[in-house]
Amino acid sequence: MSTRVANEVSRRQFLISSGVAVAAACLTPPRLFAQKGLVEIALKESATAKVTVQELRRNISVLLGPGGNIAVLTGQDGKLLVDAEVVSARPNVTAALASINADPIKQLINTHWHFDHTGGNDWLHQAGASILAHENTRKRLSVATRVEGWVYTFPAAPAGAIPTAVFQDEHTVHFNGSTLALKHYAPAHTDSDISVHFTEADVLHTGDTFWNREYPFIDYSTGGSIDGQIRAAEANLAKASATTVVIPGHGAVGGKSDLTLFRDVLIEAREKVARLKKQGRTVEEVISAKPTAPYDAEWGQGFQSPKSFLGWVYQGV
Ligand SMILES: [Zn+2]
Ligand SMILES: [Zn+2]
Repeated sequence: MSTRVANEVSRRQFLISSGVAVAAACLTPPRLFAQKGLVEIALKESATAKVTVQELRRNISVLLGPGGNIAVLTGQDGKLLVDAEVVSARPNVTAALASINADPIKQLINTHWHFDHTGGNDWLHQAGASILAHENTRKRLSVATRVEGWVYTFPAAPAGAIPTAVFQDEHTVHFNGSTLALKHYAPAHTDSDISVHFTEADVLHTGDTFWNREYPFIDYSTGGSIDGQIRAAEANLAKASATTVVIPGHGAVGGKSDLTLFRDVLIEAREKVARLKKQGRTVEEVISAKPTAPYDAEWGQGFQSPKSFLGWVYQGV
């Protein structure tokens, strides 16, 4: 399966990142488990990481690559993309888009401001796309923005990368005969997260409010929190039916049962970590207690090691 290839690539990539996180462990909190070097490694590795195409429903496909998953809607209006990958993935994203068909790229929607979802904004804009996002995505991209969790300050994005249309709470897009319902989450993974629901096909892109069988990154620097991430997981569950196809920010395409599992893992981790913290345990002691042990082997293989994830949870309880 093509999906499998993409997962293996990202696994390899982020195992390297985990090593970097360990190297940063001598720093003092809250940077203790910060992922110094992760952005640089992602930029380097994304230049060669595979991008595969998986067909979903109607005229919707998903591109699975090194960064955030891209949804692609095709038709007579041209291509509409949800998210834009890491900038260095451009050659492989270009090839993947061309493999679907030759339709021009006309519209881009960003699920949030992070570099692995907006990195391609500038070149996609130059290729013909208008960019739509939440107003906080425009705000974050317009100025230099620090992410403590990655020990990295992103410079202001180039003019072409800035969304030209923004909204606050919800917005509807009509494109290629499809209705797209866009909805802002209360601050969750960041303060700029939106969901995109392709209504007729019942395909839901959650951005980074859902990671399928991977521990999530939580960006406290730009409004994220474990409690917000849990609230967003509940909101996703409320939107999904048993037949909804769900595109996570990272990981394989899933469904309602995967959303339920993600929500349950977050809640369990939050409860256990909060209890230990209340007992006066330090973050190192919480990590040593392995409160997420049953999930670590699988869920810690992605973007976030169990250690990093527990660090983000500890910070917010
Ligand atoms: Zn992401
Ligand atoms: Zn993100």
